[in-house]
Amino acid sequence: MELSAKFLSALEKVVGPDNLLTDPEQMEKYSRDETPELSAFPDAVVLCQNAEQVAKVVEICYEHDVPITPRGAGTGVAGGAVPVAGGIVLSVERMNKILEIDRKNLVAVAQPGVITGELQRAVESEGLYYPPDPASVDSCSIGGNVATSAGGMRAFKYGTTKKFVQGVEAVLPGGAKIRFGGRMIKDVAGYDLLGILVGSEGTLGIFTEITVKLLPKPAYSVDLLAGFETPARCADAALSIVPETGIMPAALEFVEGEIIEMISETLERPLPMPDAGAHLIVSVDGFDEAEVERQYFAVGEHLLQKGAIDVLVARTRFHSELLWKSRRSIREAIRHRSPDIVAEDLAVPPSRVVELLDGVKKIGEKYGAQIVGFGHIGDGNLHIDLMRNQMEQPQWERAKKVIIPELFKLAISLGGTITGEHGIGYIKREYLPLMRTPPIIEAMRSIKKSWDPKNLMNPKKVFP
Ligand SMILES: Cc1cc2nc3c(=O)[nH]c(=O)nc-3n(C[C@H](O)[C@H](O)[C@H](O)COP(=O)(O)OP(=O)(O)OC[C@H]3O[C@@H](n4cnc5c(N)ncnc54)[C@H](O)[C@@H]3O)c2cc1C
Repeated sequence: MELSAKFLSALEKVVGPDNLLTDPEQMEKYSRDETPELSAFPDAVVLCQNAEQVAKVVEICYEHDVPITPRGAGTGVAGGAVPVAGGIVLSVERMNKILEIDRKNLVAVAQPGVITGELQRAVESEGLYYPPDPASVDSCSIGGNVATSAGGMRAFKYGTTKKFVQGVEAVLPGGAKIRFGGRMIKDVAGYDLLGILVGSEGTLGIFTEITVKLLPKPAYSVDLLAGFETPARCADAALSIVPETGIMPAALEFVEGEIIEMISETLERPLPMPDAGAHLIVSVDGFDEAEVERQYFAVGEHLLQKGAIDVLVARTRFHSELLWKSRRSIREAIRHRSPDIVAEDLAVPPSRVVELLDGVKKIGEKYGAQIVGFGHIGDGNLHIDLMRNQMEQPQWERAKKVIIPELFKLAISLGGTITGEHGIGYIKREYLPLMRTPPIIEAMRSIKKSWDPKNLMNPKKVFP
């Protein structure tokens, strides 16, 4: 869309010329996030530096009927930060200060553009702990995490982002600035707007400040790597840990055999047990060294009893980091083999994860496509990637068209969902009706309509 000179000059007055981009070369980065095969150029990019600027910019956009796409660090994989409706991208990347670590109230207050890993390290240096850790932790922003209610490896024991957000400051469609929640732990005055804002994918407002809950940092943690002959054995062993040992691991991550080789290729380093049908990474943590020792030993023994080929212990920080580096490099490893992929994140009740994996493989075989799975097996949440490999364009287009709905229907038939943590964004909006009934979608639409009657806050997202 054509942006008027009057509109652009009003924005420039608020943020200054250096923070308003209209040059296509500078805007290229803002035309995409990490969603494969999706890009759309904005008409301008506005880099805000404080909440007042965000409120003013939103107000100007509403006066001029210009769509706004909020953006954190652009690591989303559902196209949420891609400006598919044109208009402006409003980036909060320069709002990147940790404002306070409040030890008495056990909260941290941060601007939305703070990189999540930096927030974690800052609170850990004070002996405190912010557990949510998406695999993108060193590149995603806390604001983006709140907007998508991001999950991650430690969600199994600690929960996803929504469990840790205690308060937000946000600019609503139209430009009103609100604060909801904060340092008080209990507050049931009226409707829980925090619950609506968290996970709203930038469609109901823009977070300008976030207050997260903190825990004491566990003093000890040990990671284990176990190999299994088959994914089914791996899943069975993983899901029996809690009921059969009484131990609650912090993380339970699954990597299927085909991916093990891809990781080795990308990291140029052989992984242990390279011929295994699946790897399981288990992390145990706690405050007492002897108790953590007991726990990892008991979990290791249990996995061997459940048929593990071997169980390796990463006791030093170096080995632990190597192990998690290999886990965090999976997406890159898959794309190294096949630059074109479709990345889904299906979630089912954990007890049905083996059926999910079997079903996914059958769908792959039916259409002659390689589909691989990895991820948060403890949560029943697996990242399922369809790889293009050598497919010609028409075959690839057809494969996507038929395979994706089948994957979604499979997850739903197992009592699960079409997205466990990445969100609906742009790419899954047509599939929302598979997952939610008409009255539910209508209720969601009426919230959107009453908050954003002009439909300018991240339009074309979430709703079909
Ligand atoms: C390698 C890799 C691994 C990943 N692993 C995980 C994982 O383990 N778990 C997981 O949940 N996700 C994972 N993701 C997805 C992604 O990192 C998360 O969705 C993350 O929360 C996005 O944060 P971001 O700052 O990059 O947000 P963006 O991509 O910039 O935006 C995501 C959405 O949030 C909205 N948004 C961003 N900032 C704000 C704000 N301040 N106010 C309002 N709306 C806003 C945007 O409009 C968009 O809809 C992974 C991605 C990659 C590339």
